[in-house]
Amino acid sequence: AEERLRQAQKMQAVGQLTGGIAHDFNNLLTPIMGGLEIIATMTAEPRTKSLASNALEAARRGAKLTGQLLAFSRTHRLSTSAVPVNDLIGGMQDLMRHTIGPEIAIKLALDPACGTAQADPNQIENAILNLAINARDAMPDGGTLTLSTARETIADDGELAAGDYVAILIADTGTGMTPEVLARATEPFFTTKEVGKGTGLGLAQVYGVAHQFGGTLRIDSEVGVGTTMRILLPAATTATEAVATAAETPLLDGH
Ligand code: ADP
Repeated sequence: AEERLRQAQKMQAVGQLTGGIAHDFNNLLTPIMGGLEIIATMTAEPRTKSLASNALEAARRGAKLTGQLLAFSRTHRLSTSAVPVNDLIGGMQDLMRHTIGPEIAIKLALDPACGTAQADPNQIENAILNLAINARDAMPDGGTLTLSTARETIADDGELAAGDYVAILIADTGTGMTPEVLARATEPFFTTKEVGKGTGLGLAQVYGVAHQFGGTLRIDSEVGVGTTMRILLPAATTATEAVATAAETPLLDGH
């Protein structure tokens, strides 16, 4: 519980930070990138060209970071409906293929009995894509990404209310995580990736989104074997109360 409070406080801090600076920062980066792009293409002087290209690359990384921060602060805006999860995943296949690239096999194992989840389809699609990108990053030499769904009945376990849940599993055959990394994986800004490659906001965002719908994100991972990410969302029929409560208490104080 203490851990969860610490996490909520951190997310609150991220929300405030975002509201304060990310927007202005993005507006500043636009003319910087525009100017650098012109310098990089117009100059005939190789050293100037290389300096401008490097600076442009750094500005692009900055824009990506502020973009993620902005997306993060928006997660408190809830619009829920009964989401047919299998159809949603089925409809993402082209997008998934393009995002993941040809080196990784994609398998589907959708349970026809999984039913509908009470959630926002756009946010869930985003969450699945986020997890798929992490899976790809964990399989630099190729591997298999398995997307599956299931229906689960959960007794009150301290985190989730008792009831029916729809599970979305994103499993990879990648590097896996050490227990230390696993313990911190959903913390905002926790990343093991190089500067510019990871922001450490992906899992925190997925976790936050799932929680706002009365669900959660659970992770199983073993070094050298792979990782299974499990998004649990309340099934549409039993979710009404949990969602109403979540809507009244936004996790993030975005602006
Ligand atoms: P980012 O991807 O920007 O680093 P995330 O919050 O998405 O941020 O992930 C945090 C960390 O969790 C990653 O840096 C990585 O160490 C670990 N991680 C996430 N997904 C996976 C995965 N599928 N396999 C192995 N490690 C993972």
